[in-house]
Amino acid sequence: MDGARALEHVRRVVAFGPRHAGSEGIRQTREYIVGTLRRLGLEPTRQELLAEGPPGSAEVAMANLLVDLPGPSGRVVILGGHYDGKRVPGVEFVGANDGGSSVGLLLEMARCLTEAPGSTTVRIAFLDGEESLGEGGPPADGLYGSRRLAASLRESGELEEVAAAIVVDMIGDRRLSISRELESTPWLWRLVAEKARVLGVERHFSGPLLAVIDDHTPLLAAGIPSLLLIDLHYGPGWDDNSYWHTEEDTIDKLSARSFEIVGSVLLASLEEIGFRPAG
Ligand SMILES: [Zn+2]
Repeated sequence: MDGARALEHVRRVVAFGPRHAGSEGIRQTREYIVGTLRRLGLEPTRQELLAEGPPGSAEVAMANLLVDLPGPSGRVVILGGHYDGKRVPGVEFVGANDGGSSVGLLLEMARCLTEAPGSTTVRIAFLDGEESLGEGGPPADGLYGSRRLAASLRESGELEEVAAAIVVDMIGDRRLSISRELESTPWLWRLVAEKARVLGVERHFSGPLLAVIDDHTPLLAAGIPSLLLIDLHYGPGWDDNSYWHTEEDTIDKLSARSFEIVGSVLLASLEEIGFRPAG
């Protein structure tokens, strides 16, 4: 797990500018993700969707990008995160941490799992449309990509094969402080927290308890054991979130080390989840 590589992906994505739904920036981000995966010999599936948005708004075309890193166990663990950015009127919002960090981490995870495949199939899901399109918020507006993913798993009958899902959001902060998210499946949190302890990084997984609606919410609703890893203390101190959804969410707030911490804990966790008895 090379945190510098993950951070470099974020740098590239941020350079495309704002990447809210329908923007040129999100089109370029999508191309960058596909191009990077292809250089690893991977061909992502494009899962198209039309987001209705809040009442009175036009439909917006979105696309999840999904890629499987196969393992022999026959079980699938979804590893997801969003790549869209929030549209913040009047602000050049580039979302280095919010939406950018998940892209960087997932691309580097794809490289690691290509070089050293595990026993479990890891389905990496680059999700579109996590952010709301209007002034409201999720679940009514937002989570478009993850809702589409959950629906597609239901329709295809694949739900049974999915052992678990882990969603990452805002995990690049150089003062990394991931919270225990209260809606998440308890055994998944315990497993990940134990890996953090073994790797000596548990202090970065001891943020305050929080309940957050995010891309794990539709997956939980579909019956998939799901965990959200998020650091919602993104600001100049340990206990404020003042960079969130502002022009302050820039690459200088992130560190390669934070990607390394999260990535190494995830690699250890994914392997164990695949061996866990179903149910
Ligand atoms: Zn956001």
